[in-house]
Amino acid sequence: MRLITLEEHYRSPQVDGEIGEAGDYFRSMNTAGEKAAQRLVNLSDLGERRLADMDRAGIDLQVLSYTEPSPEILESSRAVPLAQRANDEMAEAVRRHPKRFAAFATLPVADPSAAAIELERTVKQFGFKGAMINGMAQGRFLDDAFFTPLLERAQALDVPLYLHPAPPPEAVEKTYFSGLEPGLARILSIAGWGWHAEQGLHTLRVIATGVFDRFPKLQIIIGHMGEMIPFFLARIDAIVMPFAKDLKRSVADYFHSNVHITTSGLFTAPPLYLALAVVGADRILFSVDYPYSSNEQGRAFLEKLSLAPVDFEKITHGNAERLLKL
Ligand code: CA
Repeated sequence: MRLITLEEHYRSPQVDGEIGEAGDYFRSMNTAGEKAAQRLVNLSDLGERRLADMDRAGIDLQVLSYTEPSPEILESSRAVPLAQRANDEMAEAVRRHPKRFAAFATLPVADPSAAAIELERTVKQFGFKGAMINGMAQGRFLDDAFFTPLLERAQALDVPLYLHPAPPPEAVEKTYFSGLEPGLARILSIAGWGWHAEQGLHTLRVIATGVFDRFPKLQIIIGHMGEMIPFFLARIDAIVMPFAKDLKRSVADYFHSNVHITTSGLFTAPPLYLALAVVGADRILFSVDYPYSSNEQGRAFLEKLSLAPVDFEKITHGNAERLLKL
């Protein structure tokens, strides 16, 4: 069985140094916790260390993506060259190990036209499989008309955009998470709940504002078993649709035709079985979230599942091969 994972992160020490103090707020995610030192080493490796870790879990191919803090957070004149550099480094790893790595581009989202150009460069020159976008881009969600050039190009190139969570804007952090012990506030605002809620909202904004009416062939990928949307989808559909009168189809319809979900970081069976019932096996893709989650833990989760063999093949590699043309 071929095993492909899609939310597997990289950090370049050089690019990170250039991002400098603008990344301090995001960087604290990578430097917190007892395994931080090892995580940083793993994040920055695109060679033997990463491959050995994949081998231990039987992972054949990782789709690489640049972690936060990424060039996305910088204004355009700084973001463009740093995004190119980060993408060039990932492209070099793909070139060295074409059977083991593929990549999603990191983009200078502060300038959507420049982001479109960089997406096209990486797809055409390096065979990248799409791009990853972390959270709000420069204070905007992707439904903003500001991003039209980028969405147009992704559709034209027939590559998906992976919408990944990021820490909340300062105003949200202050309003929702003040009055708590700082470590607890931080974790509740990100992986403990907050950024999943935000990413679910981001996806719903994209759907409910008609982005997929404007770009019917555009595909997005979201991690963490669908950022809670599968659990709520029927309710969302019933409650939101009366207020989204311009949509051509239902919210659930777009979710079933323009969104794929991955298992990144969620290694218990109930959310997967729920997603299977709601979303179906054709749109669920196995992923780990390396090195924030462990490859071996992801593999152990797979081994315990009770799935029809045909669904198992789709989730472990078939859907990724089709969506990313691997
Ligand atoms: Ca991740």
